[in-house]
Amino acid sequence: MSEPAPSLHARIASELHAAGRILAVSHVRPDGDAVGALLGFGLSLQAAGKQVQMVLADGVPAGLRHLPSAGFIQRRAKGDFDYAVVLDASDLERTGKALGGRPADLNIDHHVTNLQFARLNLVEPGAVATSAILAEHLPRWGFAIGLEAASALLTGIITDTIGFRTSNMTPAALRLAANLMECGANLPELYRAGLGQKSFEAARYWGAGLTRLQRDGKLIWTTLYLSDRQSVGYNGNDDADLVNFLSSTDGDVVVLFNEQNGGKVKVSWRARPSLDVSELAVQFGGGGHPAAAGAEIPGTVADVQEKVLEVTRAFLAAQAGSLK
Ligand code: AMP
Ligand code: MN
Ligand code: MN
Repeated sequence: MSEPAPSLHARIASELHAAGRILAVSHVRPDGDAVGALLGFGLSLQAAGKQVQMVLADGVPAGLRHLPSAGFIQRRAKGDFDYAVVLDASDLERTGKALGGRPADLNIDHHVTNLQFARLNLVEPGAVATSAILAEHLPRWGFAIGLEAASALLTGIITDTIGFRTSNMTPAALRLAANLMECGANLPELYRAGLGQKSFEAARYWGAGLTRLQRDGKLIWTTLYLSDRQSVGYNGNDDADLVNFLSSTDGDVVVLFNEQNGGKVKVSWRARPSLDVSELAVQFGGGGHPAAAGAEIPGTVADVQEKVLEVTRAFLAAQAGSLK
């Protein structure tokens, strides 16, 4: 960060209070933290009298539409804005076209690979979720968190930590979750709906990926093809969280290849604690966290697989070498 934290927070607070029409966006293939942070931020600022338009280029995935007010999230920005905020995205490309070419005033994020692309950047790589950063700072900036915003923010924390069990969990993150419960958020219900519940189509989509599971030593990988989505009737362009399930298998690194429209493959890496796969994702133009990272790579599934598996095998071999 280019400036000391206190003055950064003071500037964020005064800019948000001065803003009138705010555009808030998050990333493509939105996860629970993208939707949760967007709603948590947008609803809290709306409650303070701001006009806030919330935009996700890919819309809200079916598995997160239970969140109150999710229906207000749009796919395109409409109208004029005097302030633009990007949440939970480490680079501008990750927002799709949600900003419509406007420059970003404020970026709030927790990815270690963040490119600090906005005019003000609040990046906390130690935070378990962007929703956790907001749960901590919105009240300090003078914005109260109501029931709907609390439910959204708690969902972001639950999903990014896969139910409070990722290796970056802290007592402070649990306290923030407790604060959100005190705002009225229903933890068991949000946990069930955000993490436990899978549609029939998503379960069959998992089935397609699970039958193709492969292993080479400590490396485990699988592939989801566009044709799988069609044959099982799965409507999203994500992996229905299959990679998070696979992260509980006994590999050191798990890789999921998810074929996308437009000749690209979405690659997701998951690593056991103490490995850092974000550096692999960065090599392919992506980003993420040490234990969970991703990249969108142009090419056929076969080509992308060959390149990614080669680099990932070399990474694992180097790790094994450094432990000797
Ligand atoms: P995923 O594999 O999509 O669940 O993403 C794992 C982590 O990496 C998340 O924190 C994502 O925000 C991040 N990530 C995924 N894809 C990209 C990308 N193309 N660029 C930057 N970060 C990414
Ligand atoms: Mn996210
Ligand atoms: Mn996140």
